[in-house]
Amino acid sequence: MRTVRTVSELRAALAAPRRAGARIGLVPTMGALHGGHLSLIDRARGESDVVVVSLFVNPAQFAAGEDLDAYPRDEARDAALAAGHGADLLFAPPVEEVYPEGFATTIAIAGPLTETLEGARRGPGHFQGVATMVAKLLNMAAPDAAYFGQKDAQQAAVIRRLVSDLDLGVEVVVCPTVRGPDGLALSSRNAYLGPADLVRAVALWRALQAAESAVAAGERDPEAVADLGRAAMAEHDVEPEYLEVVDPQTLAPLEAIEPDAETLVVVAATVGRARLIDNTTVRAPAAVATPATTLSAAPEARCSA
Ligand code: AMP
Repeated sequence: MRTVRTVSELRAALAAPRRAGARIGLVPTMGALHGGHLSLIDRARGESDVVVVSLFVNPAQFAAGEDLDAYPRDEARDAALAAGHGADLLFAPPVEEVYPEGFATTIAIAGPLTETLEGARRGPGHFQGVATMVAKLLNMAAPDAAYFGQKDAQQAAVIRRLVSDLDLGVEVVVCPTVRGPDGLALSSRNAYLGPADLVRAVALWRALQAAESAVAAGERDPEAVADLGRAAMAEHDVEPEYLEVVDPQTLAPLEAIEPDAETLVVVAATVGRARLIDNTTVRAPAAVATPATTLSAAPEARCSA
């Protein structure tokens, strides 16, 4: 695996394989690689001739007062992990390469997709920073496919919108969330958790499991589902910042859970020093049609006087 730091080096490294018809897969990351990132690299490796992993802590997606400075950084460790999972190129640019003097363009995606949930909590700059950075990476590497995690469900939906709206012509592959043995979603920010908070952090997964079971059992009221999730979190003494039942594409809150439809349950909470997010997708059961004739034909189904 080669590490490159400039856009021209990246393009030069990709030129020959691209001419030869190689399929290029890009895995954008902010580093502090864990099993979640590695699952994206594995998937890209399985589907691409050339795998590019980018490593860049993007200042534009952090609001003032967030953890930009504290964000874990260890390029040597990340490089060894990426190489061990078959990456061909590590693109690790300095900030000035990505945002040179005079940089002035921002991509803003309007509407609830970027204004609710993470957009509401982290401010409008967050998804603008993500969208601008992802668009830049896609232009820099011009991959055939780019790999993202379902762990950041709203980000994945924003990226799908970006790629579709700007005709970026790249396949967006969204991979399942990788969890630890207790269900906690792997995250670079788990590094902020001390031993006691690591145990409490399981509250998010417990909430999602409770919500999932309720939807799978036929509960149709999103508020009732969310209440069950909140109760599961309270058992671990964790208060959600939000816990909502939303449409998986638009992220708009659902008024009712429709039969046989996919439902996304999203949660965020601060545990100790870490702000954590997680989500799960669950399909509501199909409505069971019970024809009146069947009822009247079955004596045991009749009301007795
Ligand atoms: P980050 O370094 O946090 O920007 O994440 C880089 C990519 O890895 C994003 O597409 C994330 O959604 C994805 N990712 C992060 N955590 C996980 C996880 N636990 N499982 C699967 N993908 C993940």
